[in-house]
Amino acid sequence: MRIAILSRNKRLYSTRRLVEAATQRGHEVLVLDTLKCYMDIASMRPSVHYKGEQLEPFDAVIPRIGASITFYGAAVLRQFEMMGAYPVNESVALTRSRDKLRSLQILARAGIGLPLTGFANSPDSTKDLIKLVGGAPLVVKLLFGTQGKGVVLAETSKAAESLIEVFRELDANFLVQEFIKEAGGADIRAFVIGEKVVAAMMRQAKEGEFRSNLHRGGSASLVRLTPEERSTAVRAARKMGLNVSGVDLLRSNHGPVVMEVNSSPGLQGIEEATGKDVASLIIQFIEKNAKPYASRTRGQG
Ligand code: ADP
Ligand code: MG
Repeated sequence: MRIAILSRNKRLYSTRRLVEAATQRGHEVLVLDTLKCYMDIASMRPSVHYKGEQLEPFDAVIPRIGASITFYGAAVLRQFEMMGAYPVNESVALTRSRDKLRSLQILARAGIGLPLTGFANSPDSTKDLIKLVGGAPLVVKLLFGTQGKGVVLAETSKAAESLIEVFRELDANFLVQEFIKEAGGADIRAFVIGEKVVAAMMRQAKEGEFRSNLHRGGSASLVRLTPEERSTAVRAARKMGLNVSGVDLLRSNHGPVVMEVNSSPGLQGIEEATGKDVASLIIQFIEKNAKPYASRTRGQG
């Protein structure tokens, strides 16, 4: 097959591993810098151009789109979908997953366990909003943050009120969430491909920190998931419409709760913590599922 990887940097671990796995399995693979792809949105013959040349069609596209370029990246991916390439994750699902609020609303409708979460616009509602999520301590989260940036713990109601006031003043969109204290600064990353959790790790925040992101100095280890955690992760991925995803869970005293579903989950942490060849599993998934115009939405909507 002819496979394109949309990635800003060939040297990133995840990109390198995907190239390696695809090549090893006999595919032709090209890494395209997402921001250097441009599109001819011509009637009936959409095409993607790259460094002055029109690209030959691809059988499949693996999007590795960073949060800072979601809008452009989704447009490039959609263009490939229009041309019939099989997207490992569809552009619609990618955009959906990048909005924490939209994601939580979709997961809530599906009855998937979540931390109590509220969202409000008016300052009049602040006190009630804090009550809705069970009072302080609570977490205030920017809607489009990543790598733990924009996730703040408010220990008291007074601190929460001030924090909310500041975020409003800055015109930042944020949600307010129950703080899952019993998780003890640990969360679980379940790597889901298709209908299966193929690898899972526990990430523990460093001393004095509640955010377990590896980018914030968290450490990863192998973990065995309960059947409930597994099915929660798989259902969350399915509801988001993602074929390959990293589902982040917390172990709360009301069962597993989903924090977010990542559409371009990193491979380094999970492969190192579990020793699994996740890259090859992604390529095998493509081999099984890629067909022309086989994505659910074909870039519509
Ligand atoms: P980001 O997209 O920036 O990674 P997350 O929502 O995943 O944002 O939050 C970052 C980290 O903060 C999580 O991995 C988790 O360790 C911690 N965290 C987030 N929300 C909560 C919560 N409601 N209760 C306890 N810990 C949380
Ligand atoms: Mg996260």
